[in-house]
Amino acid sequence: MRAFRKVLIANRGEIALRIQRACQAMGIRTVAVHSTVDRNLKHVGMADESVCIGPAPAAQSYLNVPAIIAAMEVTDAEAVHPGYGFLAENADFAERVEESGFTFIGPRAETIRLMGDKVSAINAMRQAGVPCVPGSNGPLDNDEARSIRLAEEIGYPVLIKAAAGGGGRGMRVVERPEDLVKSISLTRQEAKSGFGDDTVYMEKYLTNPRHVEIQVLADAHGNAVHLGERDCSMQRRHQKVIEEAPAPGITAEERERIGRTCTDACKRIGYLGAGTFEFLYEDGEFYFIEMNTRIQVEHPVTECVTGLDLIRAQILAAAGEPLPFRQEDVHIQGHAIECRINAEDPETFIPQPGRIDAFHAPGGPGIRVDSHIYDGYSVPPNYDSMIGKLIAHGEDRETAIARMRVALDEMVLRGVKNNIPLHQRLLKDSGFVEGGTNIHYLEKLLKGG
Ligand code: ADP
Repeated sequence: MRAFRKVLIANRGEIALRIQRACQAMGIRTVAVHSTVDRNLKHVGMADESVCIGPAPAAQSYLNVPAIIAAMEVTDAEAVHPGYGFLAENADFAERVEESGFTFIGPRAETIRLMGDKVSAINAMRQAGVPCVPGSNGPLDNDEARSIRLAEEIGYPVLIKAAAGGGGRGMRVVERPEDLVKSISLTRQEAKSGFGDDTVYMEKYLTNPRHVEIQVLADAHGNAVHLGERDCSMQRRHQKVIEEAPAPGITAEERERIGRTCTDACKRIGYLGAGTFEFLYEDGEFYFIEMNTRIQVEHPVTECVTGLDLIRAQILAAAGEPLPFRQEDVHIQGHAIECRINAEDPETFIPQPGRIDAFHAPGGPGIRVDSHIYDGYSVPPNYDSMIGKLIAHGEDRETAIARMRVALDEMVLRGVKNNIPLHQRLLKDSGFVEGGTNIHYLEKLLKGG
């Protein structure tokens, strides 16, 4: 089945390579767009055509909408895959793509807009019957007395969050009433300068939750399925470090119940393509925090346990193809774990760009490496420090852990400092091995607590 003749890949690094591979396997021609420092990216060499769209700073290249649309025009591409980050959740971009006569591989622009604002997303989800974190149910206004009353009703600690926030930025915990007003105004200022929107809202700060998210797929014909959950609780500064599927301890009934809630919500909002409902999970309850309207970094663990190709599914959905399977055809098999490999100092976490002197990828049963790096590749300082993902799959969690340990030991990565030592440590950590640790676990461990 060939959904499109030619697809433009509006991203870089490992996800661009992942999209290139999916397109190639589907017989779709590709156009790689890249910045001046990214000429030597692996997928650029594999793509049928490539276009340089600007200098290294992302604002002038990977976020340069006119340059990307122009590249689609000159190469006669039919559709654009945005990957994650950059323009993936930019509703204006999706709209411009469609207005220019091309297809955006992702949900409709209005869905991206609705979910991009966390306040409108929470309202839409609450109306769709999705359980949410107790909170302000809307933006905070300038009435200080009202905010103080609200926080008292919700109960301390509370969290002040930017409606436009993302990437773990734009949130502040408030422990005591006397800090509330100041915290609201500080978060407002940060939201204004960081996201150009000073809308903030209040949520109960859950003290011991896990991060459990549901992957969904929906087509343009009103069908939606869920592909089970992922546990992404191993986080540092609200950024995921290790992800796994399924989430330890979640029962088939819990999965079915929350999964059904999500697919019902998808049908209600007319969702299209792949998406993720992010929840905090505490004391057996799910609380919606946000929806990501794109493919996620951690999608491979779901691919491993379902046997599906999510990028292919996104492309087919965007081409208007009906989902080729139903909910009862989705089976979760075994267990998969992903370690995000970052070029960073393992002690200070400061990004470490530079030349990779040697790279040997591990292998064997159940091992997958999604990475664009190779011997002699230079990691530029301009982008994210993630240089690859190591995924281990096995018939159960124990097997996946055992395979991941071997793979981490086997991997050779010299020239840039990286977080492999941290992953080696975590894969032997008693809390991780037991499973089900909460979102604060890693930070406490790093502090020696
Ligand atoms: P972002 O869009 O920046 O990723 P999220 O709303 O997804 O923001 O939250 C990111 C992380 O912040 C969550 O995985 C969790 O660790 C923490 N977090 C968010 N909301 C809450 C909350 N109400 N209580 C406790 N922790 C939270």
